[in-house]
Amino acid sequence: MLRFCLLGSGSSGNALWAATPDYAILIDNGLSFRQVKLRAAAAGESLDALRAVFITHEHGDHVNGVGTLARSLNLPVYMTAGTLENLPRTVGKLPRVEVFEAGEVIEAGGMRVASFSVAHDAADPVSYTVEAGGVKLGIAADLGHASSVVRTKLRGSNALIVESNHCPEMLRHGKYPPAIQQRIRGWHGHMSNQDACSLLAKLAHAQLDIVVLVHISESNNCPDLAYAMARQAVRHVSTEIHLATQDAPTPMFNLGRIPA
Ligand SMILES: [Zn+2]
Ligand SMILES: [Zn+2]
Repeated sequence: MLRFCLLGSGSSGNALWAATPDYAILIDNGLSFRQVKLRAAAAGESLDALRAVFITHEHGDHVNGVGTLARSLNLPVYMTAGTLENLPRTVGKLPRVEVFEAGEVIEAGGMRVASFSVAHDAADPVSYTVEAGGVKLGIAADLGHASSVVRTKLRGSNALIVESNHCPEMLRHGKYPPAIQQRIRGWHGHMSNQDACSLLAKLAHAQLDIVVLVHISESNNCPDLAYAMARQAVRHVSTEIHLATQDAPTPMFNLGRIPA
């Protein structure tokens, strides 16, 4: 059994809680220690269960809260060498760093955390799948496009966390300067609603129970539109679709059998 919750998602801070009955990890932490504690408690979780932090890449919205959290709870932090070399100085000294290469699998407390390279404008960015008790959670966020490697890694997921960052039309007519627009829509930027849908359509299967759309831009997207498009992309299967937000955690999602 595996449960997970987006404690927050968006350009001001991302954090994903994933846990088995006796072991919890955080993937990225762009939130303050106080917010992680409050939001984990709201989701029915205690920080005492947290055993490790995994980082996808060095952008502030994914690492700004990692230093304080790791020091306060004395947690190991897993990341690639490129991410470590480019961490913002403000993260400070980490109590224990575990460096891995993109593609490595880390076994931790009954969880299998598998990393894979993604196309994003960071030094050595990765994403992850997390498997435990015969169920699989796949993450596709902070990437400009989903390569065939990404699709292969995510195949068979029972839950998918998918970036539905922007509506291309809203981005084009929005307030961002052309250079930033170019960065967002580029091959190493962020996935649009259309990109999310084309990935979802390729990965949908009868056992895909939950989809959570994440990193939804507050300036260049409309949550109702992102939802409606994703709903259409997985219309042939009975998948639940949820939207993660910046200011509040999602519900806690349970995958697999709940022990009697
Ligand atoms: Zn990023
Ligand atoms: Zn990000």
